[in-house]
Amino acid sequence: MESRYNTIIGLEVHAQLATKTKTWCRCQVVSHAIENTKVCEICSGHPGTLPSMNQKVRDFAILLGLATQCRINLLSFFDRKNYFYPDLPKGYQITQYDVPICQDGHIEITSDNGEIKKIGIERIQIEEDTGKSIHNKKSTLIDLNRAGTPLLEIVGKPDIVNSKEAVSYLKKLHALLTYLGISSGNMQEGNMRCDVNISLSPKRSQKRGTRTETKNLNSFRSVEHLIELEVQRQGQILDEGKKVIQQTLSFDVNSSTIKILRTKSDANDYRYFPEPDLSPLAFEQSLVDKLAAQLPELPDAKKSRFQGQYKLSSYDADFLTSSKFLADYFEKAVKFFRGKDAKKISNWIMVELFHALNEVALPIEKSPISPADLSELLNMIDSGEISGKMAKEIFQKMFDEHKKARTVIEELDLRQINSDDKIEELIDTVLEQNLNEVTRYENGEKRLFGFFVGQVMKLSKGQANPAKVNKLLHKKLD
Ligand code: ZN
Ligand code: MN
Repeated sequence: MESRYNTIIGLEVHAQLATKTKTWCRCQVVSHAIENTKVCEICSGHPGTLPSMNQKVRDFAILLGLATQCRINLLSFFDRKNYFYPDLPKGYQITQYDVPICQDGHIEITSDNGEIKKIGIERIQIEEDTGKSIHNKKSTLIDLNRAGTPLLEIVGKPDIVNSKEAVSYLKKLHALLTYLGISSGNMQEGNMRCDVNISLSPKRSQKRGTRTETKNLNSFRSVEHLIELEVQRQGQILDEGKKVIQQTLSFDVNSSTIKILRTKSDANDYRYFPEPDLSPLAFEQSLVDKLAAQLPELPDAKKSRFQGQYKLSSYDADFLTSSKFLADYFEKAVKFFRGKDAKKISNWIMVELFHALNEVALPIEKSPISPADLSELLNMIDSGEISGKMAKEIFQKMFDEHKKARTVIEELDLRQINSDDKIEELIDTVLEQNLNEVTRYENGEKRLFGFFVGQVMKLSKGQANPAKVNKLLHKKLD
C-alpha cells in the first residue's frame, strides 16, 4: 500500500547539554533534585533580571556543528518564542530563529543497500528548556529545576525515507553527542527527544504532501514504531481519496496509538522577535579552530580504524563503535588479551556479553564483567587451561555472581586436565574397565575408538583436554 507513495521524513531533535550550570544563570543542572531547589530569580523569570550566557553552551554547540560538517556562524542571534504555558515562567523561550549558530551540515548513515547516505542537517540552534508540569489526579504542579537548562535543537532535512533510516540517523546523532561528551544522551530521562515530521505524496506527483508532526518521542523504538503506523495511516487516508490534515500528534507508546494534540498552528503564532536582553552571539574563527583541535576520534573514523587495525568486519566495527563506552570496552579488552585475533574478543562481546546483558536489561555501562576479566577468560581458552565449552559456563557464573574467572574455576574445580600423566591414568582406568571392547578394537573394530574417547571424557567430567585424550589413546591402543 505504501509503495504507491513517496514517504518524506524529517526529524527535529532536542538534546540536553551536559553543562554544570544552566544557560543564563548559575543554577546547577541536575537530573534528580527536590522540586524547585535549583532555581533563582533569572530562571524563574522574575521581572528586571538579566540573562548572561554560559560559554560552555556556545562551545558545545560549535563542537556538534564541527562533528556534523556544519558551517559555524561567527555571528548569530537570540530570539524570543512567545507562548503561554505554566511551566514556562517568562512566557517565552529564548531560542535562535533567523540565524542559528550552525547551518548546513550532514550525518552519514548506512542505508538498506549497504551504501553510505548523507542526511542533511539544516540548522543547529541554542535554546533553553522549560520546567516540568507534574499532573496529579486533582491538580498540576510545576517544577522549575529544568527551566533554563541548555538544549541544542538539531533540525534535520527531510532526506529520510523510512523508519530504518530514521533510527540509523538518530543512533549516529546520539553517538556523536556522547562521543563529544556534550550530552549524557540518556533517552529514558528525556535528554534526547525527537519530533517526527512525515508526509506522503503519490509517486508521480511533484508536490509534497501535507505533513503531520509527532512530538517528543524518547526512544529509538518508539520513533521506528510511530513512523510505521503513521505512514500506514496517511496511506489509508490517501487511498480513500481523502486529504491528510496538517496536525500535531502524540504517540502513546503503551497502547501504540496516535493521538491528535492540535491542528497545526503556524510559526507566526509564536510572535518571534529578537531577544533584547542578550547581545548577539559573536566569536572569532580562532575559537572554532581551537575547538576543532579538541575534537575526539568520532564514530566514523573509529569504525574504519577498527576495521583496519583489528581486521573486523564492517558490521562488527559498526556495532562496537555505536557507543564510545562500548568502543573503549573493546579496546581495553584487546590490551589485556594475549592472543592475536581481536575478532575473538568482538565475538564474545557481541554474542555472549550482549546476550547476558539483554537477558537482565542492563546497559554495557553496568556490565558485571570488566574488559580485563573478559580477556583473562579468553587467555585461559587460548592457553588450553579451559575449553571453549567450559568458558561459557564460567562466563555465566562470572556475570551472575560478579566473580573473576579464576575464582569461578577454583570454586567449581573446572580446570582443564592437560597433564599427560593424569590423562594416561584416566585412559588406563577406562581400558581396564572395558577389556571386551579393547579386544574387539584389537581385532579390527576401529570405530570403537570414539567410544573410548567418550568414556575418558566422561570419567574426567569433561575436563580432560580432548586433543590430548585422542593423541594418548592412539599411542596406547595402536
Ligand atoms: Zn537560575
Ligand atoms: Mn525547539
